[in-house]
This record gives sequence, structure tokens and C-alpha cells, in this order.
Amino acid sequence: MAKTIQESAQSFLPLERDLPHLRAAAQRCTACVLCQTGTQTVFGEGDVHAAVMLVGEQPGDEEDQTGRPFVGPSGRLLDLALETAGLDRAQLYVTNAVKHFKWTPGAGKRRIHAKPNGGEIKACTPWLLAEFAVVKPRIIVCLGATAAQALLGKDFRLTQHRGEFQPSPHAERVLATLHPSAILRAPDEDARAFQLAGLIGDFRAVRRALQDASAPLEAL
Ligand code: URA
Ligand code: SF4
Repeated sequence: MAKTIQESAQSFLPLERDLPHLRAAAQRCTACVLCQTGTQTVFGEGDVHAAVMLVGEQPGDEEDQTGRPFVGPSGRLLDLALETAGLDRAQLYVTNAVKHFKWTPGAGKRRIHAKPNGGEIKACTPWLLAEFAVVKPRIIVCLGATAAQALLGKDFRLTQHRGEFQPSPHAERVLATLHPSAILRAPDEDARAFQLAGLIGDFRAVRRALQDASAPLEAL
């Protein structure tokens, strides 16, 4: 039987808003059509007291199968960039703007990533807001334009404002940077190395902002 489609995940939020309850409730979310094609809800994970929350776009193929965010090829590149910048993933919280995998069939059994639309992003936002409310990160890092536009507005241009600390109602600051999967799609090795260096540089700026207690984020 087809699942009932609502317009917002809001009505699926549990009364108790801790991470275990949120994660369990999100497994039952049928607020948008993506619940019909994704295998499972891929909820965020990490340190509940994290000072930094990373927000990607949506789970990919491996994330859809394992139920964990950023464990596939872009997750491996993310891990490399974090480690190089001196950020420990175990101390962060990692999630996505949309929590089901959207895909179209490719050759053979391949599932090709498809971009979530505005309605799907909006439907899923209550889960992200609930994660912000529980974790209360000081800095939110948007990985790629989808997360950035979900949090900073549709007119936000990543190319113009990448790496800048922006004010936000959800944290002291939001910074938008490149998505690791965009780096994996770079046209050649030079472009890839350049973009990866940009991502690492942005992560370093986040680490410095956290470490320098004498410089409140407002001053950045
Ligand atoms: N890309 C994302 O945006 N999120 C993931 O979890 C994996 C790939
Ligand atoms: Fe719910 Fe988000 Fe999945 Fe849509 S993508 S069904 S809103 S968890």
C-alpha cells in the first residue's frame, strides 16, 4: 500500500526531542515522496555536544544502504579534509538537509543521485531544526549549495560567499563551503586539488574560530 504523503515532517516529530527519540521517529517519516524510493531515513550522527555541525545535501547510495551519513566516496574525502584541517570527526555532528536518498535508475543496477527539490528540502527541514535545537552547535558548516540555500536563503550564492562566517538564528555563525562530491566531480586533477585545498582552508578557519576563545565569533 502506498504511504500517505504529507507536506512537512513537523507532524512526525516526537514529544521527547532527544537524539534517540528523534532518530527513531525519523525512521517513520513519510512527509515527502522520497520515503518511497529511499531504503531508510539517514539521520544525523555524532557528538550531541558538538560545537560544529556539518550539514550535507542528502544521503548517497552507500549512506542509503548503511543508514549513516557521509560514509561513501564523498564521506571519505570529507574525512581526509577534516583530518588535514585538524578537526576530529568524532567531536562533530554530521547530518544532511534531506534525510532520504533521491535517485534515478542508471545503467545496470546503478542508482544515480538526483537533486532534492525545494518542496522536499522544506518538508525535511523540521528534522534539521530539531537537530540544531538538541545539539546547539556554535558553528554550522553547510557543505554545498543545497544546504547553504536551505539555511541562508535561496538567493545565497556559494561561489560569492564561500568560507565567510554568516549570522544565523540557528547558531553563532554559519559558514558555507564546497560539497566533497562537487570536488570529486572536478574536471581535472588540478581543479580537484585546488577545490580540496579550499575545503581544507575553510575547515581550518572553523577550527581557529573555535580555538581562539579570546575572539568571539561576532568579531570574525
Ligand atoms: N552527500 C551528502 O550530501 N550527504 C551524504 O551523507 C553523502 C553524500
Ligand atoms: Fe521525511 Fe525527510 Fe524522508 Fe521526506 S526526505 S520522508 S521529509 S525524512
